[in-house]
Amino acid sequence: MKTERLTAADVERAAEILRRGGLLGIPTETVYGLGANGLDEEAVARIFAAKGRPQDNPLILHIPSADWLERYCEAVPAAYTLAERFWPGPLTMILARKPAVPDAVTAGLDTVGMRCPAHPLCRAIIAAAGVPVAAPSGNTSGRPSPTSMADMLEDMEGKIDGIVDGGPCAVGVESTILDLTEQPPRLLRPGGVTLEELRAVLGEVAVDPAVTRLMGEGERPRAPGMKYRHYAPKAPVTVVKGDAAATAAYIQSRLKAGEGVVCFDEFAGLYAGHQVERLGPADDKAAQARNVFDALRAFDGTGVTAIWSQCPDEAGLGLAVSNRLGKAAGFHIIDLTGSRRRSGENGV
Ligand code: AMP
Ligand code: MG
Repeated sequence: MKTERLTAADVERAAEILRRGGLLGIPTETVYGLGANGLDEEAVARIFAAKGRPQDNPLILHIPSADWLERYCEAVPAAYTLAERFWPGPLTMILARKPAVPDAVTAGLDTVGMRCPAHPLCRAIIAAAGVPVAAPSGNTSGRPSPTSMADMLEDMEGKIDGIVDGGPCAVGVESTILDLTEQPPRLLRPGGVTLEELRAVLGEVAVDPAVTRLMGEGERPRAPGMKYRHYAPKAPVTVVKGDAAATAAYIQSRLKAGEGVVCFDEFAGLYAGHQVERLGPADDKAAQARNVFDALRAFDGTGVTAIWSQCPDEAGLGLAVSNRLGKAAGFHIIDLTGSRRRSGENGV
């Protein structure tokens, strides 16, 4: 199929693609999504086919405002408090589903992920379509998420009916996912809304172990999607955590010919002769979030044999950046802050 290029002037055309069961590349403030009518089982099945996504990995339903919540889930009071504070924005809430939501969206779970995106063009398209939009990130399953129309077309050209150019994504990593069906609420994926912000509103918030480490053999993840390798470029990645100058020097001392580096801007000059992708300044985690997926994507097709990456600390947006780098590395992490050395192979 031919993938139609659309712009902000084509809201009606984009809405029509969704209403008739087509697949639409849709800009959000987090990453580009692969959207379809979330009430149409066949359209939702096409999302899984286009991405090569495992059937047991559920999708998020995107709505234009919090007053749509009650159509699709049992919205507890905390959901409205959080919506008031963080919506529209990069927060997905897991809530008990209502029968209106097809099994194809939730992968058969009794819960559904709900989000109201902040990108005005995205909300205008959803409102014009008049249906909730089921959308995972617009990448081929396993690859880094797309943060521009060009990134998404790399993976989806010819596989989707249309794509809307909404410019580069302002946040750059996927939404924060918070499970409100548990007490205390549990962070399943860190994103643009930080753990500190959630705790300021809710008090106690648990952090799922899958956020910071590889799930061990026989461990059951809370959400099926959490068990999959993610965000990975083709070459293996090693993440080095700790003080920025120390990790930069560590990488410089171990780097072999043909290997690449993801580093903070300040250290880019250390690696002459190697492919270097910049995360942003060491103290600018918002820039790092915007750049992390592009940095990982940039190594594909270059023949780089291995990738070393610096990584921010876990405060604020650093938790989301560090989680994406960790997942890209299969949690193969060298931690210079203590004597700990964590490795993806032994799943510690
Ligand atoms: P993606 O947008 O591709 O990053 O995928 C959506 C993410 O939301 C995946 O990590 C899913 O596992 C997660 N998700 C969606 N629905 C649920 C749910 N009902 N319970 C837990 N996680 C969910
Ligand atoms: Mg994804």
